[in-house]
Amino acid sequence: MSGITHDYMEQYLRELIPSNTGILEDLEKFALENRVPIVQKETAKFLELMITMNRPKKILELGTAIGYSAILMNLTLGGLSEITTIERDEKMIELAKANIKKYGLQNKITILQGDCLEILENLTGEYDMIFMDAGKGHYNHFLPHCLRLLKKQGVLIADNVLFRGMVASKELATRRKVTIIKRMKSYLELVSNNDELITSVIPMGDGISVTVRKCKESSEEE
Ligand code: SAM
Repeated sequence: MSGITHDYMEQYLRELIPSNTGILEDLEKFALENRVPIVQKETAKFLELMITMNRPKKILELGTAIGYSAILMNLTLGGLSEITTIERDEKMIELAKANIKKYGLQNKITILQGDCLEILENLTGEYDMIFMDAGKGHYNHFLPHCLRLLKKQGVLIADNVLFRGMVASKELATRRKVTIIKRMKSYLELVSNNDELITSVIPMGDGISVTVRKCKESSEEE
């Protein structure tokens, strides 16, 4: 049980999504066999939708793992989007590098090695889309950096924001996860109550939030 939605609904929605083939299917099998956490099927489809709608040229990802979502995001627009992705686990970095090389995507996907917060603090540049999928207990700390790095019309997507339902329900929350839950709530409150932002939280997968900046142009300027 995901703790996010009814099992029958989750199963039905997953069944609607056609199975991947080729590279993505291979990586999904590897992740399953080796218990590597990658984005859920419906989250992957949602990312593809966001990318197709927004056509981002530059995407920043927090949390590479084996490179599955980075490769998926690059392939969505046939290689148009350049991905910069941050990972601190050396074993994952090795696997992701091998996968990126295997599929000839070295010029399209760059891995920044280290802790997200430390890298974000020193990162410059502008990104059309940012996908947060690492360090659930630190999204609130990553947020100011992500907003600084996000282009004016960029999109900030965060995965796992409902964290198996624990963020919304005291009954589901476990004592060991209290800090993560508290900080995730803080993240959701920050992006929901900021007058300059619009955020929608979607109870799908493990909970996804989508944040954009409010449009400030007056009608005279249009
Ligand atoms: N986005 C990947 C995908 O769907 O293919 C999955 C990412 S996995 C859920 C999260 C990854 O973030 C793990 O590989 C973990 O090692 C990494 N991670 C967790 N906290 C981190 C941090 N503070 N800095 C850098 N990497 C971190």
